[in-house]
Amino acid sequence: MRIVLLGAPGSGKGTQAKFIAKRYRIPIISTGEILRKLIQNDTLISKKIKYTIHNGKLISDNIVTTLVKNSISKINCDSGFVLDGFPRTISQAQIIKKEKILINYIFELKIPNEMILKRVQKRRMNSILETIDGNIEDKNQSLKSTNYKNITHRYDDNELIINTRLEEYKKFTIPLINYFNKSSIIKKIKFYTIDGTKTISEINEEIKNILD
Ligand code: AMP
Repeated sequence: MRIVLLGAPGSGKGTQAKFIAKRYRIPIISTGEILRKLIQNDTLISKKIKYTIHNGKLISDNIVTTLVKNSISKINCDSGFVLDGFPRTISQAQIIKKEKILINYIFELKIPNEMILKRVQKRRMNSILETIDGNIEDKNQSLKSTNYKNITHRYDDNELIINTRLEEYKKFTIPLINYFNKSSIIKKIKFYTIDGTKTISEINEEIKNILD
């Protein structure tokens, strides 16, 4: 079972990837996670990637496809995999097609922009509270006195950067979705658009009904 999850930031790809991975015992390959680990290194390339991510832009197709190919060759993908956030551009889809990395299912999680902004702000706030929760009892007091540098929330989950991430989605990933819909390869791939505004368990159920 080789699955791709597509969707704008905050559409719930990560949550559904975890559900699919657990239920069907397949590994998750999340390019966002791989890149976030990579930027912890102190190399020139890591610094460049960090700069791009922190500005809400996409990383070059060559870099991400190489990372995905490496992951697939390193981990046990005998039963398949779930790709979270990859491919994101037509070029990336063409590269994996050329590399004969086959895909059986694509799920597009669709949600309106206003909801994305709310969800991402909530995700950011939750990670701040979680961090504070572990250290200090009085959250309100501690929120005022927190050293935000020490908090491990996603730097790119803020309104300014999210807008750029949404623009990148519109510019590169919407054409990819159209490409998958029109292209002949779609004949071999089952493509489903899912209403991402539904609850997590409703979406779990929908995916389960398709994959079981
Ligand atoms: P995500 O965690 O999927 O939201 O990804 C976080 C960031 O990593 C994105 O905003 C991009 O900068 C970068 N990224 C993740 N996946 C890709 C991809 N397939 N192509 C290009 N950039 C990516």
